[in-house]
Amino acid sequence: MESKNKCKMCNSSEPLKNSHILPRSYFRGLKKGSGQLYEVKSSADIEARLTNADPKEELLCSDCEQFLSINYEKYGTRLLKDTKVNPGKDTVTFKSFRYKEFYLYLISILWRASISNLERYEHIELGESINNLLCHCVRNNRLKIQTSLKLDHFFKISVIRLKDESQNLDDLTLRKVMFDMSVEFGEKPQDGILYYFSVDGFLITYHFSSEEDIHMVRTKRNFAQLLNRQNMTIPIRDISNFKQIVDGFNTIRSKSGEFRKSDT
Ligand SMILES: [Zn+2]
Repeated sequence: MESKNKCKMCNSSEPLKNSHILPRSYFRGLKKGSGQLYEVKSSADIEARLTNADPKEELLCSDCEQFLSINYEKYGTRLLKDTKVNPGKDTVTFKSFRYKEFYLYLISILWRASISNLERYEHIELGESINNLLCHCVRNNRLKIQTSLKLDHFFKISVIRLKDESQNLDDLTLRKVMFDMSVEFGEKPQDGILYYFSVDGFLITYHFSSEEDIHMVRTKRNFAQLLNRQNMTIPIRDISNFKQIVDGFNTIRSKSGEFRKSDT
């Protein structure tokens, strides 16, 4: 049966593909390595669930899928997979970093989570005007919104490489567990909203700033924020700094004896 839905990116009536929200290669990698997907539904209501799901839905036409794959996903997924931690170092480096490509890769994931109708992403709702803005930037391969306003003034993306100083979790384990997209609201509206997920041992955080002072928005820099640098230094931080991540791993440990076994 043919789908009547239109492509969410180009609005064409071409048949839609079964699109992934997080790129398919992550699920492939997890399955091959006998890894498990770990879901965090929201920070206030942590519901841990181990799953082998490979969530997808009809979102994009074949051309748009190809467009995302060629322009963003190939580079974005390889960059995280290929950047390895050297013993004793407290940073990793994205060498010859392609900022715009990687930034829009991450934005394309957030956009897909936001427009998704899957239950697992129902807590990710950016609203129609933001969705349209993200789609516009991804589709046109540009950060600029209008004169002197860019998407990365509002969505600041930070990347941190995780480690476990207690050594309960080795690096392979950290890389094999994926936290699906979650959201956390600041205490005050001006704190903005955080969206985050983790893959390949990296914690990706989007800070959506609702600050009205445009100058502040433009100049304020977050910890570990991605910048347009030839060599981008990424800090390595202990998972104990990130409560949701620690809670998640603890829940997995308590729920699954298989988890420890699969480390080896
Ligand atoms: Zn399309």
